[in-house]
Amino acid sequence: MTMKIAVLPGDGIGPEIITQALRVLEVLKNEGMAMEFTEAPLGGQAYDQYGHPYPEFTQKICRAADAVLLGAVGGPQYDNLDRPLRPERGLLGIRKDLGLFANLRPAVLYPELANASTLKPEVVAGLDIMIVRELTGDVYFGQPRGMRTNESGEREGFNTMVYSESEVRRIAHVAFDIAMKRGKKLCSVDKANVLETTEFWKEIVIDVAKEYPEVELSHMYVDNAAMQLIRNPKQFDVMVTGNIFGDILSDEASMLTGSIGMLASASLNETKKGLYEPSHGSAPDIAGKNLANPIATILSAAMMLRYTFDNEAAAVRIENAIKKVLAAGYRTGDIYEEGMKRVSCSEMGDQIVASM
Ligand code: NAD
Repeated sequence: MTMKIAVLPGDGIGPEIITQALRVLEVLKNEGMAMEFTEAPLGGQAYDQYGHPYPEFTQKICRAADAVLLGAVGGPQYDNLDRPLRPERGLLGIRKDLGLFANLRPAVLYPELANASTLKPEVVAGLDIMIVRELTGDVYFGQPRGMRTNESGEREGFNTMVYSESEVRRIAHVAFDIAMKRGKKLCSVDKANVLETTEFWKEIVIDVAKEYPEVELSHMYVDNAAMQLIRNPKQFDVMVTGNIFGDILSDEASMLTGSIGMLASASLNETKKGLYEPSHGSAPDIAGKNLANPIATILSAAMMLRYTFDNEAAAVRIENAIKKVLAAGYRTGDIYEEGMKRVSCSEMGDQIVASM
């Protein structure tokens, strides 16, 4: 069956990094893997063409695709637009439209890049964590919410932290399935000592665990998890948590690696359709200069092969090609160190394609 992939280059460095990811995928296509790429605009690029950051044209292509590969959106020229027309709204729009409830954020630190982290190399070298964050529920979306004047006449703000059983079950299944594909260790992060919502979360995760006897499940309070990620991050394999805790912990974990140009991400829906994109933004400061690091985007393409298309071998092949190129000393500016070979965005693409 042909893999239908929607390609959304977006703004800033988006088109440059997407070009390199497509070159890597073309290697597999030329060897006979059936892939079909359809390009569409998102974000500022879409606003310029269609007057909307997630126009109908793009919606149709994304809905028909099995997976979406995205560069990045945003740029200073769009900062004064009305909020609903800003590029970032395109991202929110596509996430909602495709029902993407599971956010996967790997934090991987290749031993060659251990000096890029602000932590001691021995603490982070070889780090490989996957954070699974629930993306569509929790206090970010719970009702009621707002600002009001309370009974004693004082103004107050309020939000509602809420998770339904089905929401917890489906994200728990995603996390256990991923743990099965990795080191079979899952840590569920909660604040069950204080928050009933997360006490309930824990109860459901324990129930889902019965279906995965091979996975070693542990539980950790979020404050301790924040500390453990800095103290001894290599103790973790897969972590699963709700929207707000995941928002914070996934950013914390990504900075263990110290190199924003290396961080991939995926957001999945119930049919494993996914949006795959680098964790970084559109880097307007280096856009159009062929300086961007394309590795986060290429790693996102590898995640697409693994999680939507179940092709572990192809994903590993891309990851190994990247490891080889790093081991051979090739670095874009963001990860450059004295004595290494400095390359441009397209030259990094050349090296990875050659190493495939
Ligand atoms: P950013 O991630 O774009 O850039 C932060 C810094 O990291 C910059 O110095 C940039 O040059 C560098 N950087 C980022 N990616 C890089 C790469 N691949 N290679 C080398 N260096 C890289 O964050 P920002 O500057 O806060 O935001 C810029 C724009 O991107 C804004 O419009 C913002 O809204 C948008 N944004 C989009 C996304 C997304 O598309 N998912 C995410 C975050 C920010």
